[in-house]
Amino acid sequence: MATLKLENIFKSFGETEVLKDINLSIDDKGFVVFVGPSGCGKTTLLRIICGLEEATSGKVFIDEEDVSNAQPVDRGISMVFQSYALYPHLSVFEYIAFPLRVAKINEAELKERVDRAAEILQLTDRLDFKPGQLSGGQRQRVAIGRSIVRNPRVFLFDEPLSNLDAALRGDMRVELAKLHQNLKTTMVYVTHDQIEAMTMADKIVVLNDGVVQQFGAPMELYHHPTTKFVAGFIGHPKMNFLKTTNTVVDGNELKVNIGAETISLPVEIGETKSGDIIELGIRPEDLRLSSDNQGLSMNVEVVEHIGATVIIYGPAAGNDDFCAVLPGDTLIHPGETISLLINSSRCHAFNSQGIALRRKQVAEVS
Ligand code: ATP
Repeated sequence: MATLKLENIFKSFGETEVLKDINLSIDDKGFVVFVGPSGCGKTTLLRIICGLEEATSGKVFIDEEDVSNAQPVDRGISMVFQSYALYPHLSVFEYIAFPLRVAKINEAELKERVDRAAEILQLTDRLDFKPGQLSGGQRQRVAIGRSIVRNPRVFLFDEPLSNLDAALRGDMRVELAKLHQNLKTTMVYVTHDQIEAMTMADKIVVLNDGVVQQFGAPMELYHHPTTKFVAGFIGHPKMNFLKTTNTVVDGNELKVNIGAETISLPVEIGETKSGDIIELGIRPEDLRLSSDNQGLSMNVEVVEHIGATVIIYGPAAGNDDFCAVLPGDTLIHPGETISLLINSSRCHAFNSQGIALRRKQVAEVS
């Protein structure tokens, strides 16, 4: 049981400021994922939470207790790292039991705690094995087992799946989600993979350049990104962006021309004036094939058949990397020119600073 609060966290390495005023409140039993590009400060923030790194300024609270100056071992936190180097001479049992031996836990309780962790992680029949006899996924589970036996108040995971192949990553995602449901412990998970973030998190923190861009539930970030950065980072394939210079404010409607089409955007006008440059955001899945050459013209360069969907890439409306996701049975070939209809009610609009224009309430969206 633990809430986690970060208050005005700043961190500099020499002259370089890598975390800039981070403020977050993480609920008890929450599963929060820090996501962002390489170098944005995710690991540094995680290390500050567990006490391996000292913040330049700011405070860390666990259950309202200020632990900013507490030693890592006194914070009740356990961290699972990306590289889970297991000692080759230790059996799975001894590896998991190691922190309990260090803490001089009596043999009966030690065995009970290791057995329970092994059961949760489906490692009971592997307890006598050595690391060399385990698969990558099993090794990662052993590393997690070593954290579980310590009964931490908070689990921290630093890219624990990045060394696994794609199929195993998918399996482990599901296992970690189940683990969270079983243990009901607060978890903070770092990744640069937005699919891991979307699939596992209760809430996602999108970080860029040491700043929290947005903190919210996965689908809130997908439907209501507050910045162009979040819009481009969350969702796969990425959102398409089109720069428009022909903005028209018409009553309380904001309209733009895309190709031969005029579309009315589902956003508040705010400060926007006719002629302002607006960047339009269109998710690839919010496009469909036009049957009568109406809509946005696209030159298809690459066609990827995924099965249920087909993903096509090529230039459209001045964007050389435009992308559309269409039903899997759509017959399209590289070299064709196609027309796409835009679901305008799902479009996004960003001002010249990359800030999203506020979306109209659903009832107002035509
Ligand atoms: P990645 O996904 O690549 O692991 P990250 O988002 O976790 O990246 P951090 O490891 O937190 O990023 O690093 C943030 C920035 O701080 C980087 O520019 C990095 O070079 C810098 N940095 C991290 N640790 C140190 C250090 N000990 N000394 C100097 N600079 C550091």
